[in-house]
Amino acid sequence: MERNSSGIGINKNKQMVEQLQQYGVFSSKKVAEVMETVDRALFVADGTPAYVDSPMAIGYSATISAPHMHATCLQLLEQNLQPGMRALDVGSGTGYLTACFAIMVGSQGRAVGVEHIPELVSSSIKHIEKSAAAPLLKEGSLSVHVADGREGWPEHAPYDAIHVGAAAPEIPQPLIDQLKPGGRMVIPVGKMFQDLNVVDKNLDGSVSIRSEISVRYVPLTSRDAQLKGY
Ligand code: SAH
Repeated sequence: MERNSSGIGINKNKQMVEQLQQYGVFSSKKVAEVMETVDRALFVADGTPAYVDSPMAIGYSATISAPHMHATCLQLLEQNLQPGMRALDVGSGTGYLTACFAIMVGSQGRAVGVEHIPELVSSSIKHIEKSAAAPLLKEGSLSVHVADGREGWPEHAPYDAIHVGAAAPEIPQPLIDQLKPGGRMVIPVGKMFQDLNVVDKNLDGSVSIRSEISVRYVPLTSRDAQLKGY
């Protein structure tokens, strides 16, 4: 299928976004806009049913999260992804959400992806280069790095928004430290049973945590453990 030149992929991507809205997964106009702009099919291998609302294997015991989870996290972070703001995507995998963040914060902002599998970082950069976020990667307001995301990415801290795409047994302290006062982190926490935690750093530096929904993510772990299949 000629995905972009024919427009078929873009139409299916739009249908997927409309369905998520109809099902009540999200209501934000900004989230709809960015998800329509970033074609999900560009972030998975050819032949993968990109628009089906389910996580899909991307190799290395990793998955691309389901569209409804991407939409949920984008909406939870929307106020912290305004133009000029800074966003960190830990466990950036395919690069899909990093690209969405970069478009939302724009060229005056910054979007940083951190992923510990070098092959996934290389492929995510290729995906982003084909997507609507390509100019931001070129200009340098979007970057993706090979590193242990449990340490965050101090170079561009503090962040208005932090997203973690893998489940941590507990919230890594460096990520709390790298959150700006007024900033928000969305992070799945737990082992077998996980909750999507919303961590708000108050202006006085204290932290409020609430649990949004039960979720199932791959673990935030060491590269070795992941490559051994956990
Ligand atoms: N948001 C991504 C999710 C990918 S799955 C997407 O939808 O494409 C979670 C990712 O976290 C995997 O790619 C995995 O390799 C990565 N990961 C797990 N532990 C990590 C760690 N300690 N540091 C960096 N990345 C990690």
